[in-house]
Amino acid sequence: MSAEVIYGKPLAEELRQEMKEEVSALHEKKIHPKLVVVIIGEDPASMSYVKGKQRASEKVGLDSELIELPVDTSEQYLLDLIDRLNQDDKVHGILVQLPVPEHISDQKIIEAIDPKKDVDGFHPMNAGRMLTGQDTFYPCTPYGILVMLKRAAISLEGKHVVIVGRSNLVGKPVGQLLLNENATVTHCHSRTKDLRHHTKQADILIVAAGKPSLVSGEDIREGAVVIDVGVNRVDGKLTGDVDFDSAKEVASYITPVPKGVGPMTITMLLHNTIEAAKRIHGQ
Ligand code: NAP
Repeated sequence: MSAEVIYGKPLAEELRQEMKEEVSALHEKKIHPKLVVVIIGEDPASMSYVKGKQRASEKVGLDSELIELPVDTSEQYLLDLIDRLNQDDKVHGILVQLPVPEHISDQKIIEAIDPKKDVDGFHPMNAGRMLTGQDTFYPCTPYGILVMLKRAAISLEGKHVVIVGRSNLVGKPVGQLLLNENATVTHCHSRTKDLRHHTKQADILIVAAGKPSLVSGEDIREGAVVIDVGVNRVDGKLTGDVDFDSAKEVASYITPVPKGVGPMTITMLLHNTIEAAKRIHGQ
């Protein structure tokens, strides 16, 4: 078997085209959805992510602002800034690029953002709403994975989803979203015994560990769907957590790295920002 490759880019393009039309319709109602991204310090990877987010926002017609702060910015300064953005009627989405420098508590920052403007979906209020199956902002990477699976017409109900990873950013929320879709979910992590025993049972295997080639064809059940979330740089090249060549001979569907899950993450951020504007303006 050679798996069908699910590319995120064309799907992301399709969704962004739909969003462009939605934003135009909102402009006609004098609603201008706006995303503010805050970055502290000059980490090149983080800087490249935020520039990508800004470019994508502008392409669909969102107002966007990038606030760049020096690495020695105090936690209080950042909290005051978030407070001002929370009060600003023209701002609908606030994103503080993580990780923040060590002298700043990321949890305090996440909790300071108004849940109505928390387009990253990390605020405990939004995480709790997701946990209890209520409508809310879902974290962008997990949400992107859900949309990818749905658009590829992969049924979720009753399927055994095995997730390698339990981070608050990816592993836990993707498990919760798929549980909400009536999948049966198993989480594996660094203390899991006999990882292969678990991955081999997956109808849908999601790998979000940040370990290059952690999973290969031998770890995958024939016909499984494989979603590779990992982004690792090996010898200057981007690579996932799955050994693509061996896995694609066993899987039925597989996402590549790059061009797989990545483009969906930013797309869902745009979606959440538009949703935030619609909700704030009662649309
Ligand atoms: P993270 O916070 O480092 O979490 C990694 C998870 O993997 C942890 O739960 C860890 O277990 C588990 N793990 C690590 N090594 C393992 C092993 N050998 N066996 C089993 N489990 C293992 O990372 P993250 O933020 O979730 O991100 C995961 C990957 O996705 C990274 O490569 C990241 O760059 C990528 N990512 C991509 C996107 C995208 O848009 N494409 C977005 C976000 C993240 P413990 O909990 O026990 O430590």
